[in-house]
Amino acid sequence: MSTQLTATELGRKIAAGDIKVQEAIDASCARIDANDEIYKAFLTLNEDVQTDIDRAEKMLTDGSAGPLTGVPVAIKDNISTDGLRTTCASKILENYIPPYDATVIERMKAAGMIVIGKTNLDEFAMGTSCENSAFFPSRNPWDPDRVPGGSSGGSAAAVAAEYVPLSLGSDTGGSIRQPASLCGIVGFKPTYGRVSRYGLVAFGSSLDQIGPFARSVEDAAAISNVISGHDANDATSQPDSQIKLNGLKDGSLKGLKIAIPKQLFGEEIEEGVRHVIAQNIKTLEQDGATVTEIDLPSINYGVTTYYIIAPAEASSNLGRYDGVRYGPRIDADGHIEAFSATRGSLFGKEVKLRIMVGTYALSAGYYDAYYHRAQQVRGLMAQEFERAYQEYDVIMSPSSPGVAFPVGGIQDQMALKLLDLCTIPANMGGFPSISLPSGLSEGLPVGLLLNGPVNGDERLLQISYAVEQALGFDKRAPMP
Ligand code: GLN
Repeated sequence: MSTQLTATELGRKIAAGDIKVQEAIDASCARIDANDEIYKAFLTLNEDVQTDIDRAEKMLTDGSAGPLTGVPVAIKDNISTDGLRTTCASKILENYIPPYDATVIERMKAAGMIVIGKTNLDEFAMGTSCENSAFFPSRNPWDPDRVPGGSSGGSAAAVAAEYVPLSLGSDTGGSIRQPASLCGIVGFKPTYGRVSRYGLVAFGSSLDQIGPFARSVEDAAAISNVISGHDANDATSQPDSQIKLNGLKDGSLKGLKIAIPKQLFGEEIEEGVRHVIAQNIKTLEQDGATVTEIDLPSINYGVTTYYIIAPAEASSNLGRYDGVRYGPRIDADGHIEAFSATRGSLFGKEVKLRIMVGTYALSAGYYDAYYHRAQQVRGLMAQEFERAYQEYDVIMSPSSPGVAFPVGGIQDQMALKLLDLCTIPANMGGFPSISLPSGLSEGLPVGLLLNGPVNGDERLLQISYAVEQALGFDKRAPMP
C-alpha cells in the first residue's frame, strides 16, 4: 500500500474496503521503521495502536465510520494522550503519562483515527528549529542536514516523510506554519477558540492554538472539521465553532482581493523566497486575483511584542513544574531548594531564559512598561489587520523569511526569533492562517502564508484550495 495517498483518499479506500485499516497502519509503521533513524520525527510510538485499529474496524462494520476512519495521525508531544507518554520534549516531563486524552484526541478517536505516536518539538514548544528538544533535533525530509523548523518540527517531518498523511501541532507564534513551510506541506492555524486547547500543555494561553499538518488543503479541512467545535472544558472555546465543510469547490480566483504587507516583502525576506512569492503573485493574478501592496506598520513591532507576551504567559504556566506534581524531582535540603534544583537542572536553557524574561516583564514596577504596553501594541496590531480585512479577502506573505537552514546553522538567538516575523500577527489577532507549499528556492520548499479574518476559517480554506490548484505545487521530499 502506498503511503503517498492523502488522508481523504486513504479514508475513501478504507471505507470502500479496498484497503484494510491494519494494512494502512502496517505501511505507516514500516515507513517509520525504515526512515526514522535519520529524520527522528518521533519521540514515542504508540504500542497500543491495536486498540485504535479495533475501534476503527468496529466502526466500519457497524456503520458509524466517517471520512477519516482508519487514517493514521501523528501528534505533537505537548498534546495529552491517555496512557501514552507526553514529554513536551523536556526532561522535566520525561516520564509523564497523562491520565486523560486532550479533547482533540478524543474527537479523533471518536472519528476512528489511529494515533501512531508522539512527535518531537522544541522543549515546551519554545523555538523555531526543533533544536531545543531536550532529546535530539528532528531532521528535514528534504535534506537531513537541515532543520524541519519548529516548534512542531517532528509533526511536520512525519507528514513530509510520508509516515502519516496528517499530524497535529500547536501554534503560539508560528509553530505550525513555519515548519510546514520548511517541509513543503500544508499547515493550518485555525481561529483562536475554534479548536479546544483542553489537554494541550499551555505555553502562551492567549496565543496557543492546535491545528493540522497535511499534504493537501482538503485534508487540512477534513481534520479541522473533526477536531474543532465548542468544548466546555476550555474556557476560551467559542460556541458553535465547528469548522464546517461545505465541500471545497473548484473555482477560479476571479475577483479575489489579496493584500501583501510591504513589511513582509522587503529586505527582511531572503531573496530566493521573495523570488518564489513574486512568481506566485503572477500566477494568482493570471487566475483573476488582484494583489495590492499595503502598509501595516504594526508588523514591525510584532516580534518584540510577542517575545514579551509569550514568555510572560509561559512563566506563569510553567510554574506548575516543581518536581512535586509532575515528573522527576531532584531532592535538596528544604523545599525551596528542591524546587530550584529540579527546575534548574531539568528545564533547558531556552525555557529558563523565557521564564526569567517573563517573570521580569510581569514583576511589580515593570508590568506597565513591558507587559501592559505589549498588550496595547497587540491590540493595535489586531485592529490594523481587522481594518485591512474589511477591504481585502486575504492578507498574504511568505510564511518564513527563509528556507530550512542547517542544523546548528543559526546560533544567534535573536536571528532565530526574527524568523517568526510573518507568522506572529495571526496569533496576536487570533485570526486563521495557513501555509501552502508554493515553490522551491535552492531546492528547498518555500511556503505562502494566507491570513483571513477571525472566524473566516471556512472561507480561508476554500480560497486556499483554489490557490493550491492555481499554484499546482505537488513536489515530494526527495528522500532516498
Ligand atoms: N518560534 C516561536 C517561539 O519560539 C513560536 C513557537 C510556537 O508557535 N510554539 O516562541
